[in-house]
Amino acid sequence: MVKKKIALLGATGSIGRSFWELYAEQKERLELVFAAAHQNYQKLCPLAIKHGIKILVFTGIDDPAEQTRIRAQYPQLKVWFSEADLLRLLQEEDYDIALNAIGGSAGIQATFTILKRGKKLALANKESLVMGGHLVQKIRRPGQIIPVDSEHSAIFQALGEHPLSEVQKLIITASGGAFRDYPLEDFEFITPAMALKHPNWDMGAKVTLDSATMFNKALEVMEAHWLFEIPFEQIEALIHPQSVIHSLVQFVDGSLMAQISSPDMKLPILYALSYPQRWKSQLVQTDLLSIASLSFEAISAKRYPLYMLGLEVAQAGGILPTVMNAAAEAAMHLFLSELIKFTEIYAVVDRCIQTAQQIPDPDLEEIIQTNKTQYDKVLAEYK
Ligand code: NDP
Ligand code: MG
Repeated sequence: MVKKKIALLGATGSIGRSFWELYAEQKERLELVFAAAHQNYQKLCPLAIKHGIKILVFTGIDDPAEQTRIRAQYPQLKVWFSEADLLRLLQEEDYDIALNAIGGSAGIQATFTILKRGKKLALANKESLVMGGHLVQKIRRPGQIIPVDSEHSAIFQALGEHPLSEVQKLIITASGGAFRDYPLEDFEFITPAMALKHPNWDMGAKVTLDSATMFNKALEVMEAHWLFEIPFEQIEALIHPQSVIHSLVQFVDGSLMAQISSPDMKLPILYALSYPQRWKSQLVQTDLLSIASLSFEAISAKRYPLYMLGLEVAQAGGILPTVMNAAAEAAMHLFLSELIKFTEIYAVVDRCIQTAQQIPDPDLEEIIQTNKTQYDKVLAEYK
């Protein structure tokens, strides 16, 4: 059997962890060519040795002495240490599909490098599309991006070969996060530990926090807009607390197609890697009889103001989604460091949006620069 050659970015994160489980199961179908992370060499180097991976890259270990020490500790590995090296490997190495699961805005350069080289992209890093969707549109080939985010994977599966003209709307589901039923008057007492516990999904810190504020759903509306090239007016989001229906497509004849499975990222990752085929796997099983009920509710503007602001920013477009995401990343960092309250996350982001200078059609340089300036500016205010 010809193996699919994979480049894995974000190998030590939550999506990365799911990938390694899949990789162990699908060894006869997949071959990992190289893996990348930011700093966590203690985790990635042993994993690479265990699975026979030779090439690694860390983008966040700058100290030359530490680099020398790591290379000496793992002589059987070829280890690189910069974002430039990561982008070069994406340019030079022989892979069929790259899984971009880098956390947050840091993933954008890799997305553009992969797309420009014409390689397939299994995309978990939604921030790439939120910030640079208008540029991605200009360079992507049809079928080049396969979504990994569970909602978008669900839509991709439900859509099948149907053209957009047959779609009435996309319905994105949201769990409601950790505070769906939490008393509103107690929101200001929410601690980082409380916000980092997701009721249904086991994910990295940023996406878990983004779920608690529902900012994640605004990001996903933008992601869907660019991925499926569909107007915002035809995208709806609603709360579905059980996280079993991962999203739906409503067609023009009124029919709704949903994708159903246990909330486990291994399935959308596997589908992105196996597409257009489906591969046999034991890893995610769904027992319909154990699901007591399926319910749906509207998203409350009072409970999730960041979601509402995110929809306005989505419509405005230009540089504002980048400003908003950078402000949210900074605000969440402040919240996790206990420098601001949970309820102040919205205030920080809103202030950044109200004072931002719009750039209607930013290029990649402007996006990367604005992202950094905005993030640093918010943090500096709380030094
Ligand atoms: P995590 O925070 O768990 O992991 C992030 C990964 O990215 C780590 O491997 C980290 O390395 C690496 N990383 C961080 N910064 C850089 C950088 N500058 N260069 C290279 N690598 C970097 O994130 P998740 O796995 O939760 O999420 C990854 C992406 O997938 C996000 O965009 C998220 O929104 C999206 N996603 C995640 C889902 C989930 O279930 N977790 C669901 C849907 C989407 P290190 O460990 O060394 O810091
Ligand atoms: Mg999602």
